[in-house]
Amino acid sequence: MTRRYFPIFWDTNSGTALVVGGQEDAARKVRLLLGAGARVKVVAPDTNTELDALAAEDRIDIARRAVTEQDIAGAALVISATANDTVDEFVSTAAQVHGVKVNVVDRPGLSDFTVPSIVDRSPVLVAISTAGAAPVLGRKIRAQIEAVLSPNLGKLAQFAQSLRREVKNKIADAAKRRSFWEGFFESSAAEQALSSDLESASRSATVLIDKAAAGKREGRVVMVGAGPGAADLLTLRALRALQQADVIVYDALVGPEVLDLARRDALRLYVGKQKGRHSYSQERINGILVDEARRGSTVVRLKGGDPFVFGRGGEEIRALKEAGIPVDVVPGITAATGAAAALGLPLTHRDHANVVSFATGHPATGKSDPDFAALSDPNQTAVIYMGKSKAAEIAGSLIAQGRRPETPVAVIENATLETQRTLLGTLSTLPLLSRVDGLSGPALIVVGDVVSEVNAEPLEQIEEAATPWPLQTVA
Ligand code: SAH
Repeated sequence: MTRRYFPIFWDTNSGTALVVGGQEDAARKVRLLLGAGARVKVVAPDTNTELDALAAEDRIDIARRAVTEQDIAGAALVISATANDTVDEFVSTAAQVHGVKVNVVDRPGLSDFTVPSIVDRSPVLVAISTAGAAPVLGRKIRAQIEAVLSPNLGKLAQFAQSLRREVKNKIADAAKRRSFWEGFFESSAAEQALSSDLESASRSATVLIDKAAAGKREGRVVMVGAGPGAADLLTLRALRALQQADVIVYDALVGPEVLDLARRDALRLYVGKQKGRHSYSQERINGILVDEARRGSTVVRLKGGDPFVFGRGGEEIRALKEAGIPVDVVPGITAATGAAAALGLPLTHRDHANVVSFATGHPATGKSDPDFAALSDPNQTAVIYMGKSKAAEIAGSLIAQGRRPETPVAVIENATLETQRTLLGTLSTLPLLSRVDGLSGPALIVVGDVVSEVNAEPLEQIEEAATPWPLQTVA
């Protein structure tokens, strides 16, 4: 049975931690516990010099004897590190009987909690667990977090704590207070605290607090590119915007993995197409953005790919500007570059293509179709968005404009997601696209000789997976 864990932090003031065992494994746990300020009692017939020294300094208590049920009953939690199965099992059972939480080193089956790897920036503590699935991965994650968190993060947290009373007194409204704190951690006051200049930090903080207390909360919109699908293709800036959002307005291309990264209590408004209902009109979406921002919220308008590539970002920005609402744009990886990377398909190539064009297969009503003459240059890669239902027309027009019917074509559905599918063919087989089963996700059509660069090995798999895509059909 896979084990599942719920992370909690134990208050070391709440009782004594009992460590059973007197050698290196036990000493390691004792060090961790002492580092967190715990009261520690060690029970073991023999103890190593490190533990002896700690006892001599009165930092721990040692009982040099076999562990008893009473030892366990009196502890707040127990760690058993004896490397002796009989003792470990005894400790585990006694702990169950007395309702004391127990960890037996390297024996998840005998434990009801594990000790995570930690990144310590007290009072900030980051705990990492892979539930035993991949301890090395856990260590790598820890190294990454160590690298990105300033060594003085703890100082910043303490400094913030020292301001809490003043902030609470001066800024009565809870939403305004939260917005103050969001600004605070980006401010020069925070920078100063991080570089241990607490005097300047205090001065800057007072200015910030007074401003926030006097000023009106200003709403704004951040238009964020969510990338092609995979959540880890978000930019760091997009992630930060998601974590600061009060309101998130998103549509169908934005998947749950991306939304999971947003602030939990942000209001989420779906404005995409819904079964059996009309999708929201652009005016209605503009109206929602304006209203939410006027209420003083930080609104994230989350769009698939990049907001400025077939994303109608330009129209929304116009409406917001007219309403006098500040807008920032965070770029995203557009479907074309996401899909190209996922396939190992270069969009430009010294041998094949010196131009790449992004075109739409579905221009706005009343607007002319893409200029197929302009897309027919053989040295050009044409990436066509929203072209699935018009595949036959697109192929016909490109061929009529002089692109070879044998020009390689790739169709990539759900690029970068687990459900990604790739179909390879040629311009002449492209019209058969509509016959491919279950092609229901967003899909891109890539036309050009660069498609021949897709790695040979995946090509074979794709041929198989692509049935009934008739690779060899000639028009
Ligand atoms: N702003 C988006 C495009 C929105 S238009 C961007 O920059 O990517 C919607 C079209 O984008 C879809 O019809 C499809 O052609 C393409 N698209 C978006 N995500 C995709 C994905 N994961 N895989 C393939 N095509 C995608």
